[in-house]
Amino acid sequence: MSVLGATGSIGTQTLDIVRRLPERFRVVAVSANRDVRTVVSQAREFRPQLVALADEAAAAACRQELAGTGIQVLAGEEGLVAVATMPEADVLVGAVVGMAGLVPILAGAKAGKVIALANKESLVVGGQLLMDTACANGAVILPVDSEHSAILQCLAGENRPYLRRLILTASGGPFWGKRRSQLRGVTRREALRHPRWQMGAKISVDSATMMNKGLEVLEAHWLFGAALDAIDVVVHPQSIVHSLVEFQDGSIVAQLGPTDMRHPILYALTYPERVAAGLPGLDLLQVGQLQFMAPDDETFPCLTLAREAGRRGGTAPAALNAANEVAVAAFLQDRIEFLAIPEIVAQVLERHNERPADDLPAVLAADQEGRRLAQQLIDHWEGGAS
Ligand code: MG
Repeated sequence: MSVLGATGSIGTQTLDIVRRLPERFRVVAVSANRDVRTVVSQAREFRPQLVALADEAAAAACRQELAGTGIQVLAGEEGLVAVATMPEADVLVGAVVGMAGLVPILAGAKAGKVIALANKESLVVGGQLLMDTACANGAVILPVDSEHSAILQCLAGENRPYLRRLILTASGGPFWGKRRSQLRGVTRREALRHPRWQMGAKISVDSATMMNKGLEVLEAHWLFGAALDAIDVVVHPQSIVHSLVEFQDGSIVAQLGPTDMRHPILYALTYPERVAAGLPGLDLLQVGQLQFMAPDDETFPCLTLAREAGRRGGTAPAALNAANEVAVAAFLQDRIEFLAIPEIVAQVLERHNERPADDLPAVLAADQEGRRLAQQLIDHWEGGAS
């Protein structure tokens, strides 16, 4: 396998699965953004043929560290594409965070890989493009996202026409139960303190704003070909039921498991098999109660914004995603307050004129435009605040 984004949360947990099943998997290429220390230690352990770093300076440092090992080190987007299209790899794990994943994952689809996809942004932004490219080149996209993995498992052995709706569960994030006024002045540290999942910073903030669930609705739309209004969201604070499918006869099938991303990673890597990897199971008696509640769209408007972008279609989700990435980065740098995130996304979406999103240049242009506009709004925001 090749792993794009090997040093992040999903990447390191993927390598943990490889460590557990050494007779089944071999890592031939890994990429990272700029974390030289982690990627070098991974390279020493797993002995891939190729390492790529998005950051040029980090690649130079890595090349020095790995001198004499025979491991090739590449830099930039070209390097990431080389990892994604590595001829020796059957499986590509797409664990890069954000829009940066789109170009290499598209290249992997063009190369006909089995793609274990954790990068939901590539589907949100370039869903049409990615699904068409995969279809035309015999690539298969298997979700690593826990909700979508759950849906794939619920659909196993069922026929499409029997499907009535998909029900995505949401933990609600660290601020579930709060009113809007109580979110004024919440800190980065509070936003990153997720009650159930250990995740990277970007997705943790997305989870706190509920944008993560909005992105996941769009992700489910592309992965399973479900209409947007046939995809519901329920808040389920225990995060034990990872998602559900309702069939035409009114029966609902759910998938349950511990809050451990290694389970959906393992399923994507071994699909359609069920492989024992020594992961802990779920103790139902310890779980005790399961609750389900309606989302609070007034306090957390990002879910509604994502649905609106999805309904408008074309490049609208690319603009939404770009605005969100820029706003979340600004929040993580303490440049804007938490409540400004949905505000900026809403304004960018409102000003965006969507076009068809069936080629890469159109998608990239919408992304750039969304980023530029969000950045302007943030500069203005800071100016107004000081
Ligand atoms: Mg998820």
